[in-house]
Amino acid sequence: MNNEERFVKKLTSKSADFSKWYVEVIRKAELADYAPMKGMMVIRPYGYAVWENIQHLMDEKIKATGHSNAYFPLFIPESYLQKEAEHVEGFAPEVAWVTLGGNEELEERLAVRPTSEAIICSMYSKWIKSWRDLPVLINQWANIVRWEKVTRPFLRTTEFLWQEGHTAHETHEEANKETLMILSLYKEFVENELAIAVISGKKSDRERFAGALETYAVEALMSDGKALQMGTSHDLGQHFSKVFNIRFEDREQKLQHVWQTSWGVSTRLIGALIMAHGDDSGLRFPPRVAPIQVVIVPIAVGNWKENILPHAQNIEKKLHDIGIRTELDERAEFTPGWKFSEWEMRGVPLRIEIGPRDIEAKQVVLVRRDTGQKESCDINLLDKKVSEILKDIQVSMLKENLKFQQENTHVVQSYDELKEVIEKRKGFAKTFWCGKQDCEDKIKEETMATIRAISLVKEEKGSPGECVHCQKNAENLVYFARAY
Ligand SMILES: [Zn+2]
Repeated sequence: MNNEERFVKKLTSKSADFSKWYVEVIRKAELADYAPMKGMMVIRPYGYAVWENIQHLMDEKIKATGHSNAYFPLFIPESYLQKEAEHVEGFAPEVAWVTLGGNEELEERLAVRPTSEAIICSMYSKWIKSWRDLPVLINQWANIVRWEKVTRPFLRTTEFLWQEGHTAHETHEEANKETLMILSLYKEFVENELAIAVISGKKSDRERFAGALETYAVEALMSDGKALQMGTSHDLGQHFSKVFNIRFEDREQKLQHVWQTSWGVSTRLIGALIMAHGDDSGLRFPPRVAPIQVVIVPIAVGNWKENILPHAQNIEKKLHDIGIRTELDERAEFTPGWKFSEWEMRGVPLRIEIGPRDIEAKQVVLVRRDTGQKESCDINLLDKKVSEILKDIQVSMLKENLKFQQENTHVVQSYDELKEVIEKRKGFAKTFWCGKQDCEDKIKEETMATIRAISLVKEEKGSPGECVHCQKNAENLVYFARAY
């Protein structure tokens, strides 16, 4: 038991070595493991349960806004991928190719999808004939392969899971509206379900999706002060409809190319949950996506299996019946103390302890993972109390994260200040940028910071400012940060 006790406790402290802590917590909490192939990971049941919760909540929102799910092939013929020049150039370095089918060489190589625009657009060109066929609002849940050189579990792996929406519209206005609607859906999702505060905005040209007219993104700050892109929504314009010949007869019987969008979030969101909320004791999951929301630990003293366990089982049933994901830890081989640290490490939002004295007093002890706060609760009021606390944890975790984001967003006026923020204080440096790629490139070269988002908030812009790099007139209020 001593060795196992140490296994839980010997977690590298987050402030001492953030990336070591990140990988350790993933493996110790059994979220994922390294696969034998370089750059690939196995998502273990506990990690996959987080993904299933994310997927379920996101799928509801996608459907509620009028989209339907479909499934397209994993392989894309090379000639399809090459149709959109910028698209192929952007993805070429990361594409995995299939050249053999059994022992026979294929006439045309097949790409393992790095994203599905090419295959989906080829089908849309068959399906869309008239304005009556529009809009097309399809989403796909799928796996994606991008041959990454530097990988990190959940953040960047050769294969990952995501959803990708692909829509087609009659007008640019409609497509742009869709792009922005999804952007705010993502923002609301990340804030309300994942309890992570985000900024949202437009990407600069250098950060734009290969083949898009405009890319919009939601970005969050991880607790080491680096930014993470949480989701993207692309206004594709007519780039793809022109090369894939997706045309429709409009209301005046004229042939037009459709206007398209695509958008996605991935298993990267699990990485964000770990990095935004975790602490020195391990993970801290917000209740909405936690695989286990409540763990019950009976205090194993005396004849506990007869005197305590039945009460614990009753509580488990009661909570389960009101839809709370509950686990009863009745393992006899571990001490309560060991169990406490294990469930803390695994990020379970609320722990219920029940011992002989509690049973006498008809109460239990509740311990919150987010604050460590302990309180007793009358056993008859438990279901109501647990629901209330879970709601409160969800809200307080977002508040805590929002506070962190605000404290780590620094308004800077000069290039020296920008450098100081990026190097020493971390987080977002909020400032003006002239819009020239030259300034953006130099800033990246010298500070390793990129523009995470160009603010869309009009009133924030006020009168134009001065570019933080060249001091020329600048209309873009932007957030710079180092990013994953
Ligand atoms: Zn400039």
